[in-house]
Amino acid sequence: MLNVCWHCGVYRVDKIIDPQGPVAMCPECGHRHPFLQLPLLLVSGASGAGKSTICHALLGALPEVVLLDSDILWRPECDTPADRYRAFFET
Ligand SMILES: [Zn+2]
Repeated sequence: MLNVCWHCGVYRVDKIIDPQGPVAMCPECGHRHPFLQLPLLLVSGASGAGKSTICHALLGALPEVVLLDSDILWRPECDTPADRYRAFFET
């Protein structure tokens, strides 16, 4: 939802971030969207290693971070073992 400006309604992914807010500024109208800028904690690992289990166990236990299971970032075009799944890890 951050990519749709609350003020002008234009979809833009290239927000200008002001870390002093923190706010994301709309490139179209300059509206300043406040947001929580938290550390990002990614849980990754081999299939079946327990990523989902540990993420579930940590829900609510770490309110000072954004916690993501890397599986939510997977998409079929990331299945490129020849380049060691570069697109996935860059995502
Ligand atoms: Zn706007």
